[in-house]
Parts: sequence; structure tokens; C-alpha cells
Amino acid sequence: MDYKKVGLRVGLEIHHELDTKEKLFCSCPTLLKTKEKPDLILERFQRPVAGETGEIDIAAIEQMKKRVKIIYEVYDDCDCLIDTDEEPPHEPNNEAIKVALTIATLFNCKIVDEIHVMRKTIIDGSLPSGFQRTMLLGTNGWMDTNQGKVEIEAVSLEEDSARLINKEKNSVTFRLDRLGIPEVEVGTGKGIVSPDHAKEVALKIGNIIRSTGKAKIREGSVRQDVNISIKGGDRVEVKHVPSLSLIPIVIEKEIERQLSLIKSRGKVTRDVRKILEDGSTEFLRPLPGSARMYPETDVIPIKTSELLKEVKKRLPETWDRKIQRYNKLGLSNELGKQIVKSDYVDLFETTVKKTKIKPNIIANVFVNTLKNLKKREKIPVENLKDNDFEELFEFLVNGKIVKESIPDILSYKAKNPNMKIIEIVKKLGLETMAKEELLKIVKDVLRKNKDQPINKTIGIVMRRVRGKARSEDVVKMVKKEVEKIY
Ligand SMILES: [Zn+2]
Repeated sequence: MDYKKVGLRVGLEIHHELDTKEKLFCSCPTLLKTKEKPDLILERFQRPVAGETGEIDIAAIEQMKKRVKIIYEVYDDCDCLIDTDEEPPHEPNNEAIKVALTIATLFNCKIVDEIHVMRKTIIDGSLPSGFQRTMLLGTNGWMDTNQGKVEIEAVSLEEDSARLINKEKNSVTFRLDRLGIPEVEVGTGKGIVSPDHAKEVALKIGNIIRSTGKAKIREGSVRQDVNISIKGGDRVEVKHVPSLSLIPIVIEKEIERQLSLIKSRGKVTRDVRKILEDGSTEFLRPLPGSARMYPETDVIPIKTSELLKEVKKRLPETWDRKIQRYNKLGLSNELGKQIVKSDYVDLFETTVKKTKIKPNIIANVFVNTLKNLKKREKIPVENLKDNDFEELFEFLVNGKIVKESIPDILSYKAKNPNMKIIEIVKKLGLETMAKEELLKIVKDVLRKNKDQPINKTIGIVMRRVRGKARSEDVVKMVKKEVEKIY
């Protein structure tokens, strides 16, 4: 399909929870509930409130027509009176503001001089107050993609809503643990040219947010809304697209739907739509109007100039840049990507700096060796500590062990956390073999396997010296000895 010809416009809104110590407007931890049963159950009915223009939002009226009871599950280890809207909010969490300012800066945004907390009317019950607090931090940003620049219209910091637990005909149940966890919202402007490009942009936005090291990584910590319109159609918002791979499918299907509506009825209505499993959508509610925002009077505005200075001093390297740098160290794109995403990226950096081992070998240990041990052999690799790896690599640098022995040593160490690496090397007999000893084995194998092809001979030697000699040395020595014979 020629997306330019149909006048496709796509906007993404990516919401990503931040991994701060405390919630955005109170001191509760940002953890999800740990207890079996809630400490308190609240029941409420909600009524729409007029926005600052005095109008009641059409989305709110739509909601009011279906009068339902809202049940809140409150957990006292992660909820307080602010979460239940019985106490005014505290000052916004400084840590969250700094992380969000970092993100806005990484997206090249113009940062606001003063942060104003606003209330956004949300009437589905997911916020006991009936509104969500949000603050705009940056506008007019951009990011590079494979298809050129994409505008970043806005970066905001918001409080997350409560989790929907159960929905019945006359009641809805929400759990308040998630309520108030800071989340950053990144909205794109012009520049997305196709459904596949939208997926790339969403992925890159996520990577930039995660570059801060302060993004929550758990199921449900990212939510993606996709806005779609075509020439002759109108803006439709698809809420909560659950995975990146569904983004292009949703857009394709929406283009089809709008095309057929334009053909049959001559127009498209501005809807908010809910995504179904196959990527098609159904009507959720009309798209809210502009009456939704009004100022939060309980929180005073925050000046950004000092905070921004601090943020710029500690701007993290983005994942893309890091991967480029690892490329130069000799890592493939794929290995670079995996190490950046792994829990071992800092340890990888320090090991590369401290030792003379090839970065590729180090990265392979942290990515592939550990993955194989964990997945194939169910080894508890989480038992391995930073200094275990430090010791291991030191032995490798000093030639006490060869890299081929690393999986066996790590496996044994993970299963026996109290043993020292040196004890394990001795116990498993994995100290590097002396040259003379290796030569003896090579000669013996050659004598017993006279007419074998050279690769087979190498294989037999490798099995006999398993983990005690470098494969390069074995190959070299076998070749040398074979040449002597012929
Ligand atoms: Zn709280």
C-alpha cells in the first residue's frame, strides 16, 4: 500500500513506568502488592466534574450514563491516604522528575521553565480522585530513526492509574497498588511514514527510556496507545496495544476500516477504540474533548533550571550509542544489543577496562554462556556474584585456565556458592595443561588414528583435553605434528 497516497498519519503515545523508590505524590514504595488479601475495601460511585471551561467532558457524560459501583482494594504496604484521595498530594518525587527530565533531554526536547501539575479528568474509576495528575516537561523534541527524523511532541510525567482486577455488570474492582507509580509519557509528532516504521519508533523510544536505568521492567510496565488517521478519515486512538509486533497490524487494520467507512458513509468518527487479540479493534468511547485538563492547586510549580543543570551533568549514554561503541570493540550488533539489555552491562564495562581479554569473549560469557547454563541446564546462575566473574577472568588473563573451561567452572560455582573459584578449578582438574603434556596427547592420538582426516583428529584431541587447553593451541599443534609426519 502507498501510505503517502492514503495520507496516513500515525502518532504514538508510549507510557513507561519508572523504577523510583517512591510513588509520585507520596512516600509509598513502587511495588505491587505482596499480601494475599487487601487491608481495606472502599466502595464509591463517581460523578463527572466540570473542567476549567465549565463544560462537562463528553467522555465523562458517556461514562455517567452507566452508573456502576467502583470497588477499591487497598493494601497498606503500598497505599496511603493520598492514594485513596483523602489527603492532598505531597510535593512531586524529585527522583522521578530528574529521570523524566533526563528522558526529555535525550529526546532533544525544549524543557519547560516551570513544571505545572495538571489534573486530567479520568472517569473510568481507575483513579479514586477522578483525575490523573500529569506534568508537561518537554516539547518540540526529535529522534533519529532508519527512516529519518521523527518529532517528539511532548514528554510528560504522570501518576499511574489503579489496576483493573474485575469487571461485572454493575461493578468494577480496582487494586490501588499501582496507583501513583510515576510513569513517563512520550508522544510523537510528524515523521512516522509506515506501520513498520511505527514499530521501529516504539522500540527506539522504549530503548531510550530504558537507557536511564530507571525504567521498570515487568509485565504491564509499558503501555502503547496508537493514533491513526488517513485522508478523508479522522483521528482514532487505539488504547493499550500490548506488544510491539501488534503495532503494524493495528495500523493496517485501522487503515482498512477507515477506507471502507469513507467509502460506505463518507466519514469516520473520532473514537477511542479497544484492541482485540487479532489486532482488530472495537468502539470504547468517543475521543475526549479539550475540557479534560485543569490545574492541580495543591502542588506549587517547580522551576527546572537547577534540576536541568544536574541532569545534563549526568546524562546517560543511550543504548544505540553504547551498541555503536561495542561494535568498535569487535562485538556484533546482536551481541552488543544483548549485553546492553542484560543485567551484566556494568560488569562487562569494568571487565573490559580492567583486563586484556577480548571484549567478545567477555560478552559471550555474560550473554551466551549464562543463558545456556540457565535455560538448558537449569543452573541457578543468579548465585554468581560480581567478584566470582572478576576472579574467573583474572585466571583467564594469567593463563591459569582456558576459556573453554568457563562454562564448567561457572556451573559448578553456581551450584556450590560457598566454594572458591580456585578450589573449583583444582577439583575439576581444569588448570591449563602444560605444552609438553598436550604434545604427548596429540602424538598419542595421531598414532592411534593414523588415517583419519585432520578435523577428526582435532576433535578427538579436544575431547581428551576438554577445558584444559585452548582450541587454537590444539589446532596449531595437531597441524604441526601432521606436517612432520608427511
Ligand atoms: Zn501512598
